[in-house]
Amino acid sequence: VLSKKIDEPKGMKLVHKQDGDTNYELANATLLSLVRNSELDGIVSSIRQLEETWNWRYNYPFTFINDEEFTPEFKKRVEEVCSGKVYYEIIPKSIWEKPANIDPVLYKNGIAKLTENKVNYASLESYHNMCRFNSGWFYRLEGLKKFKYYWRVEPNVDFFCKVDYDVFKFMRDNELTYGFTVSLYDEPLTIETLWKTTVDFCLAHPEYVHPNGAFKWLTENQQNPQNTNGAGGYSTCHFWSNFEIADMDFYRGEAYSKWFDALEAAGGFYYERWGDAPVHSVGVGLFEDKSKVWWFRDIGYHHSPYENSPNSDKCSTDHEPGYFAPPDVYDQNCLPNWIKYSM
Ligand code: GDP
Ligand code: MN
Repeated sequence: VLSKKIDEPKGMKLVHKQDGDTNYELANATLLSLVRNSELDGIVSSIRQLEETWNWRYNYPFTFINDEEFTPEFKKRVEEVCSGKVYYEIIPKSIWEKPANIDPVLYKNGIAKLTENKVNYASLESYHNMCRFNSGWFYRLEGLKKFKYYWRVEPNVDFFCKVDYDVFKFMRDNELTYGFTVSLYDEPLTIETLWKTTVDFCLAHPEYVHPNGAFKWLTENQQNPQNTNGAGGYSTCHFWSNFEIADMDFYRGEAYSKWFDALEAAGGFYYERWGDAPVHSVGVGLFEDKSKVWWFRDIGYHHSPYENSPNSDKCSTDHEPGYFAPPDVYDQNCLPNWIKYSM
């Protein structure tokens, strides 16, 4: 797929910290992980790789978020591997738990339908909480208010290319809002009414829709035509949000905030299983200029079962450059549509 060698972004503003520069000023940014105490080994593995490939040079801070207190063991081990400052943030129950507007009967029926259709995590309430929290709440936490950019890191992911430039300054200096590595189609059943809810909102508030949004990427589904109707006109294309580097001020802005309120009122985080990936993606795709979205093709990244595998000497992976996933799931890749319609 990719015959050209991938290196640092061309024709963009890049800042490289020089070795021994002790006065280097960081951008206003944090690495960020919502994680459970039980995932300690997995998060330590992810952090080690991100430090070795990139953050050892920059020492950006790391913020860990949890719905419970972190254990002393958790804190000790992550502090051993993080090269920058470490912050902890506990989510208030009023934010984490299922909100009062969720109708118990609709919730029960919705979950029964998803379970019948073998949708992953359908009956796990904490998964619904997590998706809602990641969609519209994390950036409102007290400890996150001071930051503008975040890089989301999950347990058990791999970073396998050396990156030399300051990725956060890359976002800032090139005025980018959202960066991703992998783009997929989603399971339509989890988001059956997300598009309808969104279209209703946009009809009531056309002023929020960006004239240069990623409309075709959001609506055209060529790789996986059976998805087209299930999601009510949404292609289901989304940025795979277990990796994302983004500007929280976008979410904090009026368009995304008002739209998110409409999603909350509709209840789809519980009646269906709206994920933070399609929610961020539809929000960015409609309310932001698509030229402010960046595919980080040079960052080697793996979260089972997919990866972004650049063709570069800076990477160590067993896979071919451009490797996506086993061929039998190739139709889940929406990156070709992003490239075709939005770059
Ligand atoms: P998947 O990638 O969709 O299979 O979902 P994950 O299980 O990886 O969850 C996504 C992210 O949310 C990971 O960083 C998890 O550590 C985190 N997460 C999921 N559920 C919970 C939870 O109940 N509590 C906390 N603190 N973190 C969670
Ligand atoms: Mn995951």
